[in-house]
Amino acid sequence: MYDMSRYARQIVFPEWGAKGQTRLQNSRVLIVGAGGLGSRQAELLARAGLGFMRIADDDNIDLTNIQRQALYNESDAMQNLPKVEQLKIHLGEINHEVAIETARQRVDKFNIHNLAHDVDLIMDGTDNFPSRFLINDYAVKNKKPWIFGGAIGAEGQTAVFRAGGNPCLRCIMDAPSAACGENSCRSAGIFGPVVSAIASLQTMEALKILSGSAPAENYLIKINFWMGGIQRILLTGKVLRPDCPCCMKKEFEYLDD
Ligand SMILES: [Zn+2]
Repeated sequence: MYDMSRYARQIVFPEWGAKGQTRLQNSRVLIVGAGGLGSRQAELLARAGLGFMRIADDDNIDLTNIQRQALYNESDAMQNLPKVEQLKIHLGEINHEVAIETARQRVDKFNIHNLAHDVDLIMDGTDNFPSRFLINDYAVKNKKPWIFGGAIGAEGQTAVFRAGGNPCLRCIMDAPSAACGENSCRSAGIFGPVVSAIASLQTMEALKILSGSAPAENYLIKINFWMGGIQRILLTGKVLRPDCPCCMKKEFEYLDD
């Protein structure tokens, strides 16, 4: 029995209301990655009352994760437990009404269809660009919205990508960047508040899309949390690349076709 009263602080917001809550209850999301971004997205979506989430990650918890990765604790790290399994347990304690499915696998071109075909939205909780380009290819090909997020050092960025005339990720960033990978996080560092803030921005856009509200105009948002700079770059037809291999030429090179 879905208890609406626990969501009273959202429902009272006029643009959300019982209608938005009911839509969220009937929504399905794939979270790719259960690290800093993905674990925070999962927590916020569970607290908000999402109906179903599937979380995919093949990693185990270690002590260096605890500094920034929501819900994991020292005991999880000492036992080097699988992230998705522990996340499911901790999320269940927060909101038992959310159906949670875990996939202890790294999302790749062979399994992305199985993991993503029955969801309404894909959340980027990855730490590398090849995985994001894979999601982008899948999302463009299958007309599924997805929400990009990346964090490194004291900087983060996020954007919503939806099919239908808007630019895709490869319109604005073509080559896999060395930045934002796990090795880069090891060498360039990462802060918990940066990860939390980017995951929060991603999740707010997710809530808007899933509840049927139009998201804000498509922007790439870049924030330097150390210097305090915020850049909002409007993603319109002007930056849509006529030669984009993905959304224009439909060459889905990251997929297994
Ligand atoms: Zn494109």
